[in-house]
Amino acid sequence: MADETDSGAVPAPERIWISPHGMAHLPDKCNHHPHVSHSEAGWGWVMWPDRKDWDLISEQRPLTATHGRTDRVARKRCRHCGSRA
Ligand SMILES: [Zn+2]
Repeated sequence: MADETDSGAVPAPERIWISPHGMAHLPDKCNHHPHVSHSEAGWGWVMWPDRKDWDLISEQRPLTATHGRTDRVARKRCRHCGSRA
């Protein structure tokens, strides 16, 4: 069994948000989220992604939304969300 408390491990996010611009965001990490609800703003998202899903997002490994606007595809990661402070 994988241990979620491994030192140095980044906790798996609850979800990955995918903006209409094809940018992936994590919850509460930046101020790029819409002021209306994400679904109203046309965002898609992936619930309980694997931790590596975030790391793999790229032109080569785009991540497709599974909820909300499922035609949203993330090809890049938000710089703010990606910082592991
Ligand atoms: Zn972000």
